[in-house]
Amino acid sequence: MTTTVTRTHQWRGVIEEYRPLLDIPEGTPAVTLREGGTPLVFSEWLSGLTGAEVWLKVEGNNPTGSFKDRGMTTAISVAKADGAEAVVCASTGNTSAAMAAYAAKAGLKPLVLVPEGKIAAGKMAQAILHGAQVIMVRGNFDHCLTLARQLAWDYPVALVNSVNPMRLEGQKTAAFEIADFLGDAPDYHLLPVGNAGNIAAYWLGYTQYHSLGVTTRTPVMRGFQAEGASPLVTGEPFPDPETKATAIRIGNPASWKLAEAARNESGGRFAAVSDNQILSAQRELASRDGVFVEPASAAGIAGILQELAAGESYAGSTVAITVTGHGLKDIATALEGVGALVDTVIDADVTAAAQAAGLA
Ligand SMILES: *Cc1c(COP(=O)(O)O)cnc(C)c1O
Repeated sequence: MTTTVTRTHQWRGVIEEYRPLLDIPEGTPAVTLREGGTPLVFSEWLSGLTGAEVWLKVEGNNPTGSFKDRGMTTAISVAKADGAEAVVCASTGNTSAAMAAYAAKAGLKPLVLVPEGKIAAGKMAQAILHGAQVIMVRGNFDHCLTLARQLAWDYPVALVNSVNPMRLEGQKTAAFEIADFLGDAPDYHLLPVGNAGNIAAYWLGYTQYHSLGVTTRTPVMRGFQAEGASPLVTGEPFPDPETKATAIRIGNPASWKLAEAARNESGGRFAAVSDNQILSAQRELASRDGVFVEPASAAGIAGILQELAAGESYAGSTVAITVTGHGLKDIATALEGVGALVDTVIDADVTAAAQAAGLA
């Protein structure tokens, strides 16, 4: 038997898939690792609990393992076209991993500022292997971002944090993909919030599609922060943000105003979840739905569970939850909560294996 399979189209990355909808300089050549086009996975578990259709936007499937790649293809493409030779970012880890990869692809020099001792090993490995110069700062993410801004102001390096509007242009494509797949915008969109660029980008994408008539509605936006770093919930910056979900360990979000606008215009809200809720949501998502995410990425899952426990109803609606980054980024934190790892050791003998497995 002979079978011929012809593939004519591979997902081209978010710039080429959505170029007419992106506000980037016309004709900017795309520096891409074919990011985006990530799966929208149906959650039997959460749909069963809520009586809603719950879909997970699995952003860990991007080239460097988080949604940051969407914004980095646009930011690095534009920086490269502008003649930049070096790029800088402050990072809790994933921005630096993404920036370093795209800078490598573009032939730019990546410079990374991270809070000392607070970066997951996987993310640090990515930045280093992609050739970034990593500088550790005695301080938190917010101090790093201030430094990165000052460096970009005074020296010839381009800043690619999400205060760079090109980042949001790329990141908004996740909203397009969800609406394209579902055939309309969902009723609710839940996601983790740290520096708040992502919620601002989703809102930009959803409102753009709605004003173009591609969708009939925009979703209610609900953002979840870690209790120890929840300035959008309390309304005050956190001078010393603390959480095991390091990707959202941010006390003074750069996109604060845009995030509040997204909440107000969508009729949404912000809420806080504890580290225990986040880590238990991470484990449940992995064991029930087969989706392994990093701790911060589980904040939206912890959020919907918290709301259900408080009597909130999602019944009959369509819900999208963004899970922002891959579980392999930070295995140390993932394993902290599970106690003894593998404690069953046997000889290579089938009866012993069957007995150990409780089969005999
Ligand atoms: C960056 C990041 C976030 C937070 O996104 P913001 O745009 O800063 O709100 C959440 N989860 C992961 C995995 C991230 O990398």
